[in-house]
Amino acid sequence: MSTTVTRRRIVVHGTVQGVGFRPFVYRQAVQLGLNGFVLNDSAGVVIEVEGPQPAVDDLCRRIVDDPPSLAIVSSVEVTPIAPVGVTGFEIVATVEGGARTVPVSVDTAPCDACLAEVDAPADRRYRYPFTNCTDCGPRYTIVLSVPYDRPATTMAGFQMCTACRAEYDDPADRRFHAQPNACPECGPRLRWWRPDGSGDGDGDDALRKAIAALGRGGIIAIKGIGGYHLATDATDEAAVAELRRRKSRDDKPFAVMVADLAAAEELCELGSVAAHALQSPRRPIVLAPRRAAAPVADGVAPGLPELGLILPYSPLHHLLMAALDRPLVMTSGNLTDEPIAYADDDAVARLGPMVDGLLVHDRPINIRCDDSVARVGRHGTIQMLRRSRGYAPEPRVLPVAGGRPILAVGAELKSTVAVSRDDIVVTSHHIGDLEHLATYRSFLQAVDHMCHLCGVRPEIVAHDLHPEYLSTKFAVDLDLEPCPVQHHHAHIASCLAEHGRTDPVIGIAFDGLGYGTDGTLWGGEFLIADLRTFERIGHLAPVTMPGGAAAVREPWRMATAWAGAAGLGTSFDDERRDAVAALAARGVGPVTTSMGRLFDALAALIGLRSVATYEGQAAIALEAAARRVARTSAPTYPTGIDEAGGQLVLDPRPLIRAAMADHAAGASVEVVAAGFHEAIGRAAADMAIGLARQHGVRTAALSGGVFQNARLSEIVEERISAAGVEVLVHQQVPPNDGGISIGQAAVAAARSPLRPVGGKPTH
Ligand SMILES: [Zn+2]
Ligand SMILES: [Zn+2]
Ligand SMILES: [Zn+2]
Repeated sequence: MSTTVTRRRIVVHGTVQGVGFRPFVYRQAVQLGLNGFVLNDSAGVVIEVEGPQPAVDDLCRRIVDDPPSLAIVSSVEVTPIAPVGVTGFEIVATVEGGARTVPVSVDTAPCDACLAEVDAPADRRYRYPFTNCTDCGPRYTIVLSVPYDRPATTMAGFQMCTACRAEYDDPADRRFHAQPNACPECGPRLRWWRPDGSGDGDGDDALRKAIAALGRGGIIAIKGIGGYHLATDATDEAAVAELRRRKSRDDKPFAVMVADLAAAEELCELGSVAAHALQSPRRPIVLAPRRAAAPVADGVAPGLPELGLILPYSPLHHLLMAALDRPLVMTSGNLTDEPIAYADDDAVARLGPMVDGLLVHDRPINIRCDDSVARVGRHGTIQMLRRSRGYAPEPRVLPVAGGRPILAVGAELKSTVAVSRDDIVVTSHHIGDLEHLATYRSFLQAVDHMCHLCGVRPEIVAHDLHPEYLSTKFAVDLDLEPCPVQHHHAHIASCLAEHGRTDPVIGIAFDGLGYGTDGTLWGGEFLIADLRTFERIGHLAPVTMPGGAAAVREPWRMATAWAGAAGLGTSFDDERRDAVAALAARGVGPVTTSMGRLFDALAALIGLRSVATYEGQAAIALEAAARRVARTSAPTYPTGIDEAGGQLVLDPRPLIRAAMADHAAGASVEVVAAGFHEAIGRAAADMAIGLARQHGVRTAALSGGVFQNARLSEIVEERISAAGVEVLVHQQVPPNDGGISIGQAAVAAARSPLRPVGGKPTH
């Protein structure tokens, strides 16, 4: 009895290009004795397959259940078509056209098989720093265009040698259709440059010179996957201090690269979640508590209880770390606050004066991509603080499908952009702080690249309300339908989007600053919000911010303002500070309800830090101090919760008075900091619980940069949960302004839905 022959067209959507999908389908089809073809088109992977129906079904099942490790299958469409009687199965060349859905995959650390080759003296890729295969290697940072094929990458200029071509063409090979495939014969090469950009060796010689420079305590630039790093010996106090001087970076912590997990364990206490994250192929920087005797220079992360660790994520890092056998500072290749260098001429111009040499190569980086940063949250899950290399441009699914394509341009600091079509949203790499012209250029490039890669021609542009943000100015100048989204609504929406929720919640949005609908600077906000709309129903008491933006870098200004409001003097007694106090008392300067600035103020008032060299430094110091005291030993300070204009107002003045009195009576900075955290955390939780009852809402969502404070999050979350109210917190989307673009995209999608959501009509 003959079985029925069927033919089906299978279209696979998702991150399916550049991840070995076609070779995978080929191998499965050949194994099952099926005929047909597979190809990449700009919609994804298209398969036509013909054979006995059970075998065809089996292939469909394998595509859904067991795709290649780097692939993310978002949907599979199967359409029956008429059999044509072909024999054999082939991978056919890419065709142009069609609607793109999702770009290429993320950049991935070398797989074990590739590292084994790099370490095997008999292998033709022995010590070759650009070894990769279909399971690993660069993707997003080298792709110029889609469909993802070698000519559309920065590998286009390298002709494969006979041996590499044979691997590339052999369906049974691990490198079958691996676009960045290369070897020492035909691929990119290392070079060692003097600081002026003149060559001084290549290949293994270049590597040896770089290793020797690092061994001498030198500072070098290293071209990596998404840009240049500045590197030096992390155990060498003088070298680290010199790096800070040359980079003009005072205190902001440096990340440390270690050879392997054992080396990481020597520096930090790692639980299984942190260990797992460190070793994941995405390779983020993972923040973890440092050990008391950790052998790294104090200058690496001055005064902080955590170190940011990262494992090697390219074969080049692997070779360097194996030879050096000590931790290396690996910090982004830039002068403080500028974007990371990724083009070679720019690296020589900007980094040359800072380094003793540059370890470079001739595989161009098309899009710069900083390292991602993660930490372990209190539920034993990873919490992303910066989502960039290894994570961008991974698509996410929104809880609402937008009716028209959306561009979301983010805020100003920690900028990211997002593009969305239907219910798919793709967030860019970390762009940085847009105040700098070079960063703004990088923002423009990211907008173009994301729209192109995702094939999205936006019709709606979602943006912040702040009229002075460069992203807002850019957005309103576009000839697109604007969708203005209030900053803290975007924060809460990003948390809802992450959890796939559309129902109303009590949102607690605590951050540095965001433009409010009343023109003041918000930042300690209680909202009732869903994806579409919000209402402000509570906030921190407002205070004058003397000197405006200057108060961000000079916490003593906020200290002066809050002390004055609480009826206290300060010990900042020079003339300039008296003048500021007078300004604050007369209400000269913008008004803010910022929670971040209140944390700054208290840190300055108890003498922890009155001037910051980076945003949030004083607040971070306050958290670090609090964490040295057990929660059960924290003193109880009072706070006021008042009602004004139909809103609940959190009044911190009783808390400031009690904390200062305790401090004056001899309580340590740590004890006062712990008491402050408890008081603010409890008051915030109590307000949220009361508001939830009042509005008949069962869920609270926590967002904003202040919730990077693990101690505060714990207090708020625990207390709200204990009252029977569900709490949503961030894991995959950063709580800080890096998450604003996805929040904006979610709001824009909800305001212009494909299908109406909820009860109310859309605007
Ligand atoms: Zn590999
Ligand atoms: Zn080759
Ligand atoms: Zn914010």
